[in-house]
Amino acid sequence: MAKEAINEALIQSLEPIQDPQALIGELFRRFGDRAAIGTSGQLTGVVMVDLAVKAGLKPRVFTIDTLRLFPETYQLFDALEKKYSLKIEKIQPDPEKLKAMLREHGEFLFFDSKEKQEFCCHLRKVEPNERVLGTLDVWLTGLRADQSKARAATGRFEIIPHGPERRPILKVAPLVDWTEERLRRYCEDNGVPVHKLLFWEQDGWRYESLGCVICTTPIGPFEPRRAGRWRWFNGLDDDKECGLHVVKKDEV
Ligand code: SF4
Repeated sequence: MAKEAINEALIQSLEPIQDPQALIGELFRRFGDRAAIGTSGQLTGVVMVDLAVKAGLKPRVFTIDTLRLFPETYQLFDALEKKYSLKIEKIQPDPEKLKAMLREHGEFLFFDSKEKQEFCCHLRKVEPNERVLGTLDVWLTGLRADQSKARAATGRFEIIPHGPERRPILKVAPLVDWTEERLRRYCEDNGVPVHKLLFWEQDGWRYESLGCVICTTPIGPFEPRRAGRWRWFNGLDDDKECGLHVVKKDEV
């Protein structure tokens, strides 16, 4: 497969493809294993996998396995692998760096300070993500514009620089304008395996965003979507990000 340039001309050639399934199909056909769906088990991720398989593809799928995910997240990955006959790449933190972090700061360093939480997120999420991006030209993400204030400016296409040489990667959010309701309906109508915690609710409390155990808690009826993340650092700030999808401030 000849290597395609990642540039504005590529985006212009993809812009007319409005249908997410057609777009996902086009990207995998053009980029093969240099394209991959990254998912943490949210609804957009499982819908993208379903759309890709229904388009006749065997998509490359990866997740960042922080080794601190909910048991229900691992169960979902097992269910997806079984239903779609694929292997989800679980990209984990560097074992030596992880050991050193735990030795120096302890298991629960994220409670100590914002800096230590970001250090933990960097080691368990951002570094492994950088590693897998090193193998990609196209990163399909499940970002949605309605997920938080910080994500409201998300478009379908963005060229991001990777590594010290700033190699361009096309980041694509095919379902950027889908609502929660539309995603839920799609999963129900198509028998798509879903994360059990996203369908859990008690007295109006529910999960809208899933990450690591302890750092992710349910949100109450009037809280913003990402309030459940790192709740001990200002639960009402809905701009909290772990570093995987950093949005430039002037774009917010
Ligand atoms: S969410 Fe919590 S446990 Fe997971 S990487 Fe970030 S700080 Fe560490």
